[in-house]
Amino acid sequence: MAEFEIKVHELENGGKSYDLPVDPSWLDRVLDTPDLRAAPDANGRATFFASLSGTDVIIRGRLRTAVIAPCARCLADTRIAVDTDLTALFSRAGGDARPLPEELELTPEDLDRETYSGDTLSLDEIVREQVVLEVPMQVHCSEECPGLSVPEHVRGPASLTDAPLLDGKPIDPRFAPLLGLRDAVASDAASDAGSKKNKKRAS
Ligand SMILES: [Zn+2]
Repeated sequence: MAEFEIKVHELENGGKSYDLPVDPSWLDRVLDTPDLRAAPDANGRATFFASLSGTDVIIRGRLRTAVIAPCARCLADTRIAVDTDLTALFSRAGGDARPLPEELELTPEDLDRETYSGDTLSLDEIVREQVVLEVPMQVHCSEECPGLSVPEHVRGPASLTDAPLLDGKPIDPRFAPLLGLRDAVASDAASDAGSKKNKKRAS
């Protein structure tokens, strides 16, 4: 059974208002992505009016809830408030595609066109879609988020002009950490050689 279900016959006397909770555990299930989950304390609501125009069902209202996604810079859990229009047009499956009634003042692009059959239609997919659309491509916990700090030993030089030199030639700064490793190995080898010499001398 759908979470947001409308019985078409109930709209016959001028439409019907709905004010339905958006259950975080339901939202989690339909989001079905590791990077996006429902805020467990979100007191979400889908508030809308459903009306009939011929056999078309018109939904107009508002969707409010909250989700959590990782900050693109520092990966911290970031709460994203969802407060968006919930509009849709359902046409009866197999029926004629009728032009929209003019008094709606909505272009077809404003509405998600869906189909329904029988007496029941579900807004579940539209609610899910609207939530996903409200999540920015790049989630940031704050405008000033500095991102993860990179440990100094793997950090390259700040600019290419500061590139380290190897045999007098600048090297790609991305390899700078390897240069440090090479020096460490070289000095280990030197001290190994030194200790062998010392052993020889001692024997
Ligand atoms: Zn951040």
